[in-house]
Formats: sequence, C-alpha cells, structure tokens
Amino acid sequence: MLETVDLAPRDAILGLTVAFNEDPRSEKVNLSVGVYQDEHGKTPTLGSVVEAENILAAGPSNKAYLPISGSPGYSEVVQELVFGPEYQTAGHLAGAHTPGGTGGLRVAADFLHANFPQATVWLSEPTWPNHPSVFAAAEVPTKTYPYFDQQTNSLAFEQMLAAIEKMPAGDVILLHGCCHNPTGIDPTAKEWQQIVQAVAKRGLLPFLDFAYQGFGDGLDEDAAGVREFRNAGGDLIVCSSFSKNFGLYRERVGALSIACATNDAATAVQSQINRAIRANYSNPPAHGAAIVETILRDQNLRETWEKELSAMRDRINGMRQQLVDSLEAKGVPGDYSFITRQRGMFSFSGLTKDQVEQLREQYAIYIVGSGRINVAGLTPANIDRVTEAIGAVVS
Ligand code: PMP
Repeated sequence: MLETVDLAPRDAILGLTVAFNEDPRSEKVNLSVGVYQDEHGKTPTLGSVVEAENILAAGPSNKAYLPISGSPGYSEVVQELVFGPEYQTAGHLAGAHTPGGTGGLRVAADFLHANFPQATVWLSEPTWPNHPSVFAAAEVPTKTYPYFDQQTNSLAFEQMLAAIEKMPAGDVILLHGCCHNPTGIDPTAKEWQQIVQAVAKRGLLPFLDFAYQGFGDGLDEDAAGVREFRNAGGDLIVCSSFSKNFGLYRERVGALSIACATNDAATAVQSQINRAIRANYSNPPAHGAAIVETILRDQNLRETWEKELSAMRDRINGMRQQLVDSLEAKGVPGDYSFITRQRGMFSFSGLTKDQVEQLREQYAIYIVGSGRINVAGLTPANIDRVTEAIGAVVS
C-alpha cells in the first residue's frame, strides 16, 4: 500500500536550507530561513536562557504531564507581555501554551473549524507561506487581501482597507502583529487605528500572528496593533512565538492569548481550545515555557533578556543600513532606501525569481524565491560579497 505514496514537494523555505547544507562552496551565504544570526553568523543561546536553565536544573525535577493548556502561570506572564501591564483589566482572557507559534496557529485553526465552520480566514498577500498550509490542514478556507504595493515598496493601505470593508461579517482577518513576514512592512499607529475601526465595523474576528515581538522597535512599540485591538474591547486572538525573541527555536515555545467580551465566553473558548489541543498533541512540552516563565518572573533575568533582545534588534536594524550603504557605494542601480524603513528580520528586496536563482547558482547566496532576504543573516564578513553579487545580477 505504501508504495502508492507520492513524494511531497520540499518545503519552500526549509528545503532551501537543506540545499544550502549540501552546497560544497565554502563562501556560501544563507539568507533564506528566518533564524537570527549574530555578527559571526552564529545563532546564539541567550545568556538569560542559560541562566534560567541553570535555575530550573537546580530545582526539583517534575516530568508529570502539564495541564492541557500548559502552566497557568505561563499564560499569565505571556498575557502581560502581549497586552501590557494593564492586561488583567483588558477583558476576559483564555490562553494556552502551544508548541511554537505554528502550534498556536494550528490549535486556533482547529478551534475556528470546529466552532465557526462557515468562517473564511483572510490572509495578507503576500504572507508567510506556512499560513495557507496550516489553515488548509485544518480545513479552514482562506482568501487573501492586498497588503504590499510593489511600486512604492510600502503598505497598500487604501486597497487593504477597501478589501476589509467588503469582507463578510463573521469572517476572520489574520494580521501580522509586527515585523510582517515576508515584506517587513507594518501599519503605522494611525493606520492600526483605522484597521481596528474597519474590522470592528465589519464584524470580523481579528487574529494577530505575533511572531516577532521586540524585533522591530521594542516590546511595547511592536505591540501597538495588538493593544489597539485590545483597547477597542472586541474579541481578539493573538498567537505568539518565542522562537525568535527568546532564541528558543527548537524548544517549540509559543502561546495563544484570546480576549473575550464576557467571563462565560472566555470559559467556553478555553474549553474549546483545550479540546482542540487534546486531540492534537494532548498537552505541551514543558521545558521551553518554563524558561520563558522563569525569565519573565525574575526582574534581573528579565532585564538581561530585554538587553539581549535590544542587541539583536539593533544589529538587524544596523545591517539594514549597512546593506543600503553598501549597495549605494557599489553603484548598484535602484533606490534601496526602503530597506531601512522595513522592520524585523526580513526585507522584501524586489529581486526577481531569475535573479534569486542566479545568486544561488553563481554566487552560493541563498534567498527565498519571492526575493525575501533574512537581514539577520548578513554579517560584516559577508555583506560586501552579497551586495557585489546583487549588483552583478541586477545590472
Ligand atoms: N508566524 C510567522 C509570521 C512566522 O514568521 C513564524 C516563524 N517563521 C511563525 C509564525 C512560527 O514560529 P514558530 O517557529 O514558533 O512555530
């Protein structure tokens, strides 16, 4: 029977890393997968994480199951991080620790399918390529709304608003909380206000994918959109990932935080979230969430983590500037100043599929086919080679 199984296509992004690892050229550069790298090209384990692990290792060991939604203390500290210090007055909350942001998206998708089978989830065009896959796996229909204006390398705000105004009431709109992947372009504070108003007016359920809190302008600054929704007081689903901002990629740490209008609604939503989790992975792994909870509850560790997060953010934003400066210095045709206006790990470079292919084949520089560059993969050691190669393929 199993000989009838067809080969699945390689994952568009993770597949590139497989190809990168197999590439024998020593000068190769991987700017594809969304993993932070320091100035030496290494993905560091944060000092705050190591310290938290030492504290946990010195404490009592407990390998019994966690509750279905994870440690209750974890959901509480996460909600404070996401919604701000006033989170307890911000509504009635349900929450769960999920295996990464992807786990949270899948649980939310299962929840939507079970409870709102008629609802379509609207995704930005473009979006993270795994979004459509996760919703399709949960049998949730998706459609897209315009987001990116290729001509101006900016948010297609008017088209986006016009699309929101036509979405059927009861549908779900998925927005990137900050550091939009893949474009790096986020709404301004004023645009968030207009989005929140339009979403509420249409009777849509807002769903914010918040995978990069702290990677854009700061922990609170990056939560501007989430908090604008929260302050408006309607229902809200937020899916956090702590892969990037705590550097906990392989520990699989994420969270769902759901704000509801009443206590009864929050209790019912929690029960349905738990039901979705139980049938999916039963209950979450403990270690990564224990690290996050330990750091967020300890003032010193939290300060250390916030400094480490700022350093990652500053390095990325610094590399954005260096990328633009280096392209200019090499006389590469085109205005690349938009790269410094983008936020987070990614930059939509405007490179075409053909140029991306040439970069890989001729220069061993790996970029996602859409032209998305992981700015955090640039280092002082590789930036000149990268901009020289870009110059060669665009000229
Ligand atoms: N959402 C977006 C927009 C992402 O970019 C990512 C990570 N690439 C995720 C969710 C999932 O993160 P995790 O690795 O924690 O599952």
